[in-house]
Amino acid sequence: MKVLVTGGAGYIGSHTVVALREAGYEPIIVDDFRNSEKKVLEGIESLVGQVTCYELDCSRPVLEEVFRREKNIHAAIHFAAFKAVAESQEKPLDYYENNILSTITLLRCLLKYQVPYIVFSSSATVYGEPDTLPVTEESPRKPARSVYGRTKQVCEDIILDTLKSGAALRAILLRYFNPIGAHPSAKIGELPRGIPNNLVPFVTQTAAGWQKELVIFGRDYNTPDGTPIRDYIHVMDLAEAHVAALRYLERGGDKNIMNLGTGKGNSVLEIVKTFEEVCGVKLNYRFGERRPGDVEKIWADATLAEKELGFKAKRTLAEALLDAWKWQKTLTLNQAT
Ligand code: UDP
Repeated sequence: MKVLVTGGAGYIGSHTVVALREAGYEPIIVDDFRNSEKKVLEGIESLVGQVTCYELDCSRPVLEEVFRREKNIHAAIHFAAFKAVAESQEKPLDYYENNILSTITLLRCLLKYQVPYIVFSSSATVYGEPDTLPVTEESPRKPARSVYGRTKQVCEDIILDTLKSGAALRAILLRYFNPIGAHPSAKIGELPRGIPNNLVPFVTQTAAGWQKELVIFGRDYNTPDGTPIRDYIHVMDLAEAHVAALRYLERGGDKNIMNLGTGKGNSVLEIVKTFEEVCGVKLNYRFGERRPGDVEKIWADATLAEKELGFKAKRTLAEALLDAWKWQKTLTLNQAT
């Protein structure tokens, strides 16, 4: 069964392609490689064999070509999007245009070619700073603090409104908490361009000497150690959750929104300490100012995904950090050769 994976050469997309293939699906990647690299395909193929890939921008009408060529697409998983929070503030039109148009263009193709299922990459960013913890799928969405966050909210609404219109489509919106780690083989992982925005790539790059020091953004939050709390989930767990979501849609599951997290929160300092401990590396870090717009603490109520999808994150934080470190060492090695 063919599953179209937009953004399939990206971080979560590439791991999901591997999980889909291992589950017996035929993933078809659509990616324009603006924020990913061709060598990701080599990594994927070294794990699961040849995978079809179309190099195109799925916010453009040319996407329809894929549906015309590939008969009987069974489902789509829509990862393709711009995702850098700070950049989204500087380039709002690029973010709205790319993230929203790609969702609309894909939905139009799904309806036209009678593809019955879509899984959408949403984000815990839609909850903003939650009033109560853990956040459930019923927790209110807050006005997003970034253009990036707003594009996710708008895309969620576009999909939900399409369902309400009576379209012959089933959908599930997956709200990711903080994906980290890499495939344990270190054949695929995250490839941040330039200076990483996210914590774990910054940690591994600092440990590898690519960055001079890690700055911990703020130590005066209302948390046990003063640093912000997030729910960090191994990217392989996340990838497997997409397969579970697809199967859920196939068997007629009717919940449209699902948190994907571990249900447990960890502070920035806990990440740093755990990394140092399990990887045996000392990190050069210091405390700095808060990063504007950062949420103080958030973690998922992960029970709905467990009940409905039968999904529970099974990898530990230590495993995720070790896999991230293993991947960083592979990158360092490749850079040297
Ligand atoms: N963070 C940090 N230094 C960095 C990058 C991130 O202290 O160089 C902190 C950030 O303030 C946040 C946490 O790490 O509290 C996770 O940040 P990330 O950008 O990975 O995820 P998000 O804030 O979008 O959940």
